Amino acid sequence: MRYYKKLILCGLLMSCGSNLSEAATRYFSPSEVKDLKTLLKSGKLKPGDDVILKDGTYNLGDVDFFANGMSGDTITLKAENPGKAVISGPLKMRIYGNYLKLDGLYFHKAWASGFSMIEFRRDKGEHASNCRMTNCVIDDCNDPDKSEKPAPAGQLPMSVAEYWVGLYGENHRVDHCYFANKRIGGLVLQLWLDENSHINNHQIDHNLFGVRNPYGGNGAEIIRVGHSWSSQLESHAIIENNVFLHCDGENEIISVKSCNNVLRKNLFFESRGALVCRHGHYNVIEGNTFVGNDLQGTCGIRIINQGHTVYDNLLCRLAGWGLLVRVGVFDRPTPDTDIKAEPLTSFHRVENVDISYNDFVDCKSMEFGSGKGEKMPKNVRFAYNNIYGQTDNIRLFRPEQTLCGFYFLNNSYAFNDGAKLNLEGFTIRKPTVDYSSIERSRVMDSINDIGANWYDNNKDDLQYIKAKYMQE
Ligand code: CA
Repeated sequence: MRYYKKLILCGLLMSCGSNLSEAATRYFSPSEVKDLKTLLKSGKLKPGDDVILKDGTYNLGDVDFFANGMSGDTITLKAENPGKAVISGPLKMRIYGNYLKLDGLYFHKAWASGFSMIEFRRDKGEHASNCRMTNCVIDDCNDPDKSEKPAPAGQLPMSVAEYWVGLYGENHRVDHCYFANKRIGGLVLQLWLDENSHINNHQIDHNLFGVRNPYGGNGAEIIRVGHSWSSQLESHAIIENNVFLHCDGENEIISVKSCNNVLRKNLFFESRGALVCRHGHYNVIEGNTFVGNDLQGTCGIRIINQGHTVYDNLLCRLAGWGLLVRVGVFDRPTPDTDIKAEPLTSFHRVENVDISYNDFVDCKSMEFGSGKGEKMPKNVRFAYNNIYGQTDNIRLFRPEQTLCGFYFLNNSYAFNDGAKLNLEGFTIRKPTVDYSSIERSRVMDSINDIGANWYDNNKDDLQYIKAKYMQE
């Protein structure tokens, strides 16, 4: 028996040994950028290779990172000391190939020289797969020409968009990163859906999305999943365990524009916007926590389209609506729909949506059936939800038309002013749980192991949230 074990061990060592002998670690300093870029682009990096950036500031310009790693043998571009390799200046980083990883890089005072600063593709149709961006920071990356010059007359300030990270392809993970201080329009993180390979399985988790000041118009979302043109396609992205703090760019923090995504256990803290199911169907919004602290513009979950599941979300002290279920302008498009007459950018009917087991505490309002359009919600179940505190403003718009589209079941409510609801499916019932302790424990769970822990602003942001619960 012992002999047999030894044989196995020997075999394991041999197989590991052969990989180790191939894998190489190469170091570069800022004076060697030319050689670094040549190597990254060469396609010659082997599975398990590490390319390590020594401390210093790197002006990379156009840089391609192309290679093919393997599962468990990723090819990694990383900082020798996390945060000490700073990437600055105009940047167009294109990552394509397989199993490539960015680790510990600090993007600071860099900006997109093209459309996106970092793209997971070489070109149209040539996408990356199985790549990971982890433990990285992108902070204050704004083209100085665009962000510091006054806006042309009649245009929004900084009205030219630049994107920070564009995910193309499939199976990417963006995790434990910190993003903040985007001032120019455009997305922090855009998930692009390809017409032919739209199921992407991307995972966005444990990131800290820090301050983004109000932009003054559309196009300053933090994350968008798809676009209206790809909105009827299955995406299958997972966005979970992220923290959004002071993400005030515009009224959408996350804009979902595709089908079959999961958004769960994220914390939206004092962020003046909402999680919006803007286009697409069958998205799951689960276990998220929203804390608005009564700041103007803080909102909850906005529902448009079909087949969504919204459950176990906790929404506290939102100065705007906790929930908004919109009426549609058109019905859900079918293959026969003339999308010129009924554009995908419009609003489609809400249908077959389940909103249950959510808690709305001290939110300003709940909106059922608001907005322009004649396609009334159908088969929306609103069940086992609890609505407490200041939420004395449940608005059912055009009830004679919209009421039949909602099935209200076993919801509890109790308002501070004792107001009574004249709606079936709602029962006055005092809270049976202590919401302040539930909120506290959900928030504390949410800020554990978030972002790039070597970055001071990351630590400060988490401490800011934590401190809100220490004072009490
Ligand atoms: Ca928007």
